[in-house]
Amino acid sequence: MTPDPRAASGRCLVLADLMRGGERVPGTVVVEDGVIVELCFGRRLSEPWARTYDLPGALVLAGLIDLHVHGGGGFAAADGREHLRRLGAWLAARGVTGFLASVPSRPQDELCSACRAVAEAASAGDPPNLLGLHLEGPFLSPERAGSLPAGSFRQPSPLAYRSLRAVCGSWLKVLTIAPELPGAGEVIAACRRDGVVAAMGHTNAGFDEARAGLSSGMAHVTHLFNAMSPFHHRAPGAVGAALTSETATAELILDGEHVHPAAMALARSAMGASRLIVVSDALPVAGTARESSLWEGREVFRRGPRLVFADGTLAGSAVSLNEALATAIGWGLEPAEAVAMASANPAAVLGLEGRKGRLVPGQDADLVVMDKDWRALLTLVRGRRVWPDQRWQD
Ligand SMILES: [Zn+2]
Repeated sequence: MTPDPRAASGRCLVLADLMRGGERVPGTVVVEDGVIVELCFGRRLSEPWARTYDLPGALVLAGLIDLHVHGGGGFAAADGREHLRRLGAWLAARGVTGFLASVPSRPQDELCSACRAVAEAASAGDPPNLLGLHLEGPFLSPERAGSLPAGSFRQPSPLAYRSLRAVCGSWLKVLTIAPELPGAGEVIAACRRDGVVAAMGHTNAGFDEARAGLSSGMAHVTHLFNAMSPFHHRAPGAVGAALTSETATAELILDGEHVHPAAMALARSAMGASRLIVVSDALPVAGTARESSLWEGREVFRRGPRLVFADGTLAGSAVSLNEALATAIGWGLEPAEAVAMASANPAAVLGLEGRKGRLVPGQDADLVVMDKDWRALLTLVRGRRVWPDQRWQD
């Protein structure tokens, strides 16, 4: 195997607690050339030549992976290379070792230039935690626009899809699409051929339409419950189709505002924890002190923990993925299960389960060490420290 030039070279030790069953036990993660080579219980301090990060009492986990994030810290995933670079650093400071840049629906030219910037950044490995692109549109239902600009939505067509895919190349990982729109079936089939995950979202599909979409190649559901036809016992809608699907995976925005704890519990019992993915769906204003900001041309206001438009509609979230993880645990999920929903499960959606998302030998050394409040103290991407920037000398 040829060494990965983007991985850190040499040996490194991370000394912190490991999760064993429901317990925490002091342990050591041994990393070599950007890959986890060994996990052992107990503190191994016998390798003075290895880079050592010693964080007693903190918890080391597989790094978090956010499949749905529009921005944070004032930086937008769809606003070009410099924003992406700074967003990557902002996310790394929150334990996110992998993310998809979520590009919202826009007029064609603007969409293409946003996609091109993400594809270039991902090719360059800058930021190192950028895994690719999630296109949230433009083949969406205006009846379920949510916070996205419905004026830029288009009818699905293989031609329109091809032109976007040509710009993104293989960095297009997830395409959110409404399955009931005419032409959606052909686009879903094209996604399948290209290895793009077609995700049901921003959809007004009835139960049968949604079920047909999910059984014809849509493998994933974008923010389950939000911006989709809701569940009614005589008309179960897209939500009912997702909850009764036997294979689809689904995102939950666990900012404490978009989804009620009972809805999370329902999704968990219907679908199983291994098919649920915690996402942030964070807007660029997340993590800033601003009371209002622009989001895709519309003003967004902060109302306590919510981000809303002037009419009170939820506009997206203001949390980062580690905070969403804390919410899931606060709502009663076992920490190991909640952590998997933010690491192993999203890695599997991207087909990366053999390389990322778990703390086991053979996986990329994408690690986060967290304090008791789920704040990141140290983040490594392929063995390379990306957070904090200055505290340690490599
Ligand atoms: Zn979104």
